[in-house]
Amino acid sequence: MFFDYHLHSHFSSDSEMSLDEICTTAINKGLTEIAITDHYDLDYQDDQIEFLFNKNNYLREIDNLQKEYSNLLTIKRGIELGMQPHLCKRCTAFIGNDFDYVIASIHTAERKDLYQGDFFIGYQQWEAYQKYLIEMYQIIDSYNNFSVIGHLDVVRRYGDYGTAPDLVDDPEARTIIEEILKILIKKEKGLEVNTSGYYIGNGADPLPSRKILKLYHELGGEIITLGSDSHYTQQIAFRFQETVQLLKEIGFQYLTTFDKMKPTFHSLDNLN
Ligand SMILES: [Zn+2]
Ligand SMILES: [Zn+2]
Repeated sequence: MFFDYHLHSHFSSDSEMSLDEICTTAINKGLTEIAITDHYDLDYQDDQIEFLFNKNNYLREIDNLQKEYSNLLTIKRGIELGMQPHLCKRCTAFIGNDFDYVIASIHTAERKDLYQGDFFIGYQQWEAYQKYLIEMYQIIDSYNNFSVIGHLDVVRRYGDYGTAPDLVDDPEARTIIEEILKILIKKEKGLEVNTSGYYIGNGADPLPSRKILKLYHELGGEIITLGSDSHYTQQIAFRFQETVQLLKEIGFQYLTTFDKMKPTFHSLDNLN
């Protein structure tokens, strides 16, 4: 019994997976529940690619899919929302009450792209990381229509610095992360554990790192979802078993699923 809560279909410009492919692969891998979480990034600063979709078409297809696979798989209306501080109002309106699960992700900072590297130009490594985290703090502090923060420390994957240190190794960055996690806990929002960390970059940790997960646990955080961030079928449920083991070792007790934005807690001991 496992749940993959981060999956990209052809509704995302960077994936070609069909919804049927996702479902059949999920069933074959023994999953009981998934959330389709396609990209939706308003005001994305890249003129080559656009991460938007028609909400009605998207939700209709997911609902049809749920009917088709009703006995085999639970399929949730999810979304990966690309957040920026100036978009909070627009995102609140766009999400409305239409989704089960919303990942708030940060793919840009200071209105500049992380993936292409524009944001990092002119910044020292830790300066860039801190500015990214401050922007995340601003968003999390003022935005409410979401379930979890996606891939919290993804920033260290990008920028041309040659190394990718753990964000909590810098006292200032650690302080900002602590503040972000405290707000999450206070707002009863959660943290996504994204296993793309195992197949992109140095492969040592999920996103966020085990040190950040430990910090979240120490602060009292309990809402954790598990997602593979799949753009290809091979990535679905990638290394879930050992990630659940890692969560147990840290001291977490539950994995969370969402229905109409409300969490359900599943004991980690029952997952295998
Ligand atoms: Zn993302
Ligand atoms: Zn994603």
